Formats: sequence, C-alpha cells, structure tokens
Amino acid sequence: MQKIAIFGSTGSIGTSTLDVIRLHKDAYQVFALTAYRNCKLLLEQCIEFKPSYAYIEDSRLAKELTHQLSCHNSKTQVLSSIEDLGYLASHPEVDIIMSAIVGSAGLIPTYQAALSGKRILLANKESLVAGGSIITDAVKKGKAKLIPVDSEHSAIFQALPFEYESLASSGVNKIILTASGGPFLNTSYQELKSVTAKEAIKHPNWSMGHKISVDSATLMNKGLEVIEAYWLFNAKLDQLEVVVHPQSIIHSMVEYIDGSILAQLGTPDMKTPIAYALSAPNRIYSGSDKLNFLTLKELTFKAPDLARFPCLGLALEGLKLGGSMPAVINASNEVAVAKFLKDEIGFYDIPKMIESAMNKFASINVNDLDSLLNLDKETRAFCQN
Ligand code: NAD
Ligand code: MG
Repeated sequence: MQKIAIFGSTGSIGTSTLDVIRLHKDAYQVFALTAYRNCKLLLEQCIEFKPSYAYIEDSRLAKELTHQLSCHNSKTQVLSSIEDLGYLASHPEVDIIMSAIVGSAGLIPTYQAALSGKRILLANKESLVAGGSIITDAVKKGKAKLIPVDSEHSAIFQALPFEYESLASSGVNKIILTASGGPFLNTSYQELKSVTAKEAIKHPNWSMGHKISVDSATLMNKGLEVIEAYWLFNAKLDQLEVVVHPQSIIHSMVEYIDGSILAQLGTPDMKTPIAYALSAPNRIYSGSDKLNFLTLKELTFKAPDLARFPCLGLALEGLKLGGSMPAVINASNEVAVAKFLKDEIGFYDIPKMIESAMNKFASINVNDLDSLLNLDKETRAFCQN
C-alpha cells in the first residue's frame, strides 16, 4: 500500500487522480488532500477517501471544514497555514505526491517533495518552468523521482527507455511535442483581437481548469511545455520541436537517430497519463475510453503559427535567454491570464504584458527557492500595476 498526498485535489487533475485511485484502493491510500477554496468538494473527498490530513488555504474555510468533518465523525485533521503544504509534501509517511496545484503556488510542495525523496507525479508544469534548475537539483539531492503527468511529457516518457542516462546515449535525435492548436486554431488575427474568456476556455478536445485552457488558446501552454520538456528530459534546445495535431490522438513523439519515431496514442483523457505516472514502469487500468482506429477520420499535422500566437515565440525566446527569464514569463503570464479571465484585458494584451515584463526584468541566475519566490512576487506586482 502506497500513501499519496494530492496537492490540488479539487481541480481537474486532482479529481481525475481520485477517479484512478478509486479503482485501486488496495494499492494506494490517500494520506492528504489539499484545496484552495472549494470546501464543499474537499469535504466530499475527505468523507470518501478518509485522508489523515486535509488542507484548505483560507482559515475561515478551514474552521468550516473542521466543523463539517466532526459532524461526520471524521478523524481527518484540517490544516491551513502556508507552511503546512511543505509539511505535507515532505511528511515521512508519504510515498507519492501528485503536484496538481495550478501556477507557481505549486513550487513549495514540489520542491519539498523533491528534497524529501518522494515519487513526484508532476502535473504542475509552472514549477518546472519557473524553477527548472532549482527543482531538478532538489530532485537529485533528495534522490526523488520526477514523473510527468502532462500528456505530452507522459507520451515522451513512454517512448523513451524507462531508465536512461541521456538522450544522446539512447540514440534520441529529437522530441516532437504535439499541440492541439486550441479553440482558436482557425480564428483570424482580426477576430482574435476581440475573443472573450468564455470562448477561450472552450477547448475542443480536453476538459481542464480555466488557466491551462487559456494557455492552450494562446499556445503559451505549448511554450511552457517545451520548457518543461527541456528540464524533464535534459534536452538541448534544437532537440525540441512543436507540431500542431488538432485531433489530440498522438500525444507526442520521440525520433531516434535510425529514423524510427515512437509515438504514444490514446483518447484525450488525463486518467491515462495519471495511471502511468502512478504505476510506471508497470501498467494499471485507468478507466479511460479506448481508442477505436476504425472511427478515427484523420490524423493531421501542421506548423504552429507564431504570428497569430506570439506567446509560443515568447516562451521559446525565454528558454533561449535562460536563467530567470522563464520564471518572469510564467509569473507575467499568470497575472495576464487571470486578468483576461476577468474580462479586464484582451487576448493580445496577454503577450503584451509578458513582453513588458521580459523587458523590465533582465535574466539573472536565481539559485535558491526564496530568491525565485521573490522574483515571482516582484514580476506579479509589476504586471498588476
Ligand atoms: P484546476 O484549476 O482545475 O485545479 C487547480 C487546483 O489547485 C485546485 O484544487 C485548486 O483548489 C488548487 N489551487 C489553486 N490555486 C491555489 C493556491 N494558490 N494554493 C493552493 N492551491 C491552489 O487546474 P487543473 O486543470 O487541474 O491543472 C492543475 C495543474 O496541472 C496545472 O499546473 C496545469 O497546467 C497542469 N495540467 C493540467 C492538465 C489538465 O488536463 N487539466 C493537463 C496537463 C497539465
Ligand atoms: Mg499538456
């Protein structure tokens, strides 16, 4: 029996993780669940999965949750101070953490779990984008295992040898990340100027949280994923390629030097990569629908359009500049997306805000978590104003 702490249990990835765990209650025991504001769903999850701990950000909601749990004779202990996230991620009883908080708020639990040698199922790509070297160093130091949950990175992970020294020693030529192109794949530049948040969060293939849905609409998500792949697979910049594949059936590919390309395919359902992250190198039932080739009409591919989707270009530039630039891009993108979701700014104000943050904060070396959290805060303050 392995004990798992799920960070962001009330979100899209968090609930899918619990869907998979529900099928394997004999193998995985929920040790802790964390949420930001959704007290009602967290309460339901606590009643079903009986974790030792539940965390909710807001202290008023924590009191409410404690009261509700006591009415159900629950033994779950409620925590709500910010240090408690790190406490739970490094708790000696925890074997696995699911890092599925959205945004750089996921940095602390991911970092603490890395230092404590946990098996980290990483959905929270923002922590690796912002803190690539800090997180990967902590993983090495703590002898942790960092396993991708993002569907593209899970596909690449599955197409690579399970244990490998380097891409070069495994004969890898390049990694090809597929992108659906999002809801605005065929929307003109003129029309994009006035699209709304409501339209942006209607993803054609995937059902996800609002922030990542907007990132998919701007293609920033693919930019963040290129940076995520750079750190996860220790890749060189010219080994990372993006191809638009609107059907989201091929989740990504690895091209080897002999000309072979290994792809991972499946229906667009995050339960598949979540199940593999839990069980790799073994396989467990995920509960997702199987792919039927006879009903697939076509699989198509094209190049991403950097003119209509400048966020992808900005992320690639940030990766080239290196150092703290990806952290600045990530923080400014988070502020811009939050404003876009509130209809305060337009679609093309998102890349504009990111570009001004990139001009304001020169790339420097950030080697520790506190400096990174400070830079994240400063960038947010700059963008808020
Ligand atoms: P979501 O918005 O549905 O859920 C986010 C979760 O994080 C919720 O449980 C929320 O309570 C918690 N949370 C939010 N802000 C917080 C804060 N400041 N402190 C503590 N907890 C906080 O998001 P999601 O779609 O599940 O995505 C989660 C992460 O997984 C993101 O990093 C996203 O990029 C990544 N991801 C998601 C998908 C997907 O299909 N949803 C796919 C790949 C990667
Ligand atoms: Mg993805």
